[in-house]
Amino acid sequence: MRTRISPSGGGTVAFIDGVHATERAKSERSLTGLRKIAAGCQACDLWKNATQTVFGEGAPSSKIMFVGEQPGDKEDLAGHPFVGPAGKLLDECLREAGIDRDQVYVTNAVKHFKWEPAERGKRRIHKKPRASEIEACRPWLDAEIRLMKPEVIVCLGATAAQALLGKTFSVTRQRGQLIDSPLAPNVIATVHPSSILRAREEGERRLETDAFVADLKKIAGLLQIRKRA
Ligand code: SF4
Repeated sequence: MRTRISPSGGGTVAFIDGVHATERAKSERSLTGLRKIAAGCQACDLWKNATQTVFGEGAPSSKIMFVGEQPGDKEDLAGHPFVGPAGKLLDECLREAGIDRDQVYVTNAVKHFKWEPAERGKRRIHKKPRASEIEACRPWLDAEIRLMKPEVIVCLGATAAQALLGKTFSVTRQRGQLIDSPLAPNVIATVHPSSILRAREEGERRLETDAFVADLKKIAGLLQIRKRA
């Protein structure tokens, strides 16, 4: 089933060196250039407490773009997306689903790590980004989509899904459905792998992992269909 959803975004208040980020992002013609400009982004306050901008990564020929919420603690320190525990689980599940890692580009709706200190100890605890922060960061994601032209966009979790498909989108209700969107020929949403890691019981974690792999297999099937078409 396909659901028609209009493009969101626009109306941001994101500036870099006095120039509207949307304009900088819109006119840039390469991912390398885009990454360089985004490294200096201060369009919302999240850069202040983060180590660095964590931009998307993947081969330019990638057919699938995965969009998560934001970099985590490990990603913030390393400067690369999906290199922490959730990224490792994503890699394992991609292998299980038969998706070549070289066909995949990974990025986030928000490019800086938002966190708060743990009550005890030095741990940095993930904090959900606000709608205004997601909106401020949107020009970077739009530019990544424009330059990559992915055949499939996979929203991982509610933040990415609602950022790209609208605030009323429900991953619980619409998980795995093909969404009719101008963003890409195929747009689909599933859970974020970090939610699988939060499962308390091993059995529950296995079930959720299997369901996630099933979603990925569906995505792999979409690419096969397009290849044959
Ligand atoms: S989160 Fe996005 S909009 Fe905010 S400062 Fe970082 S790159 Fe810029």
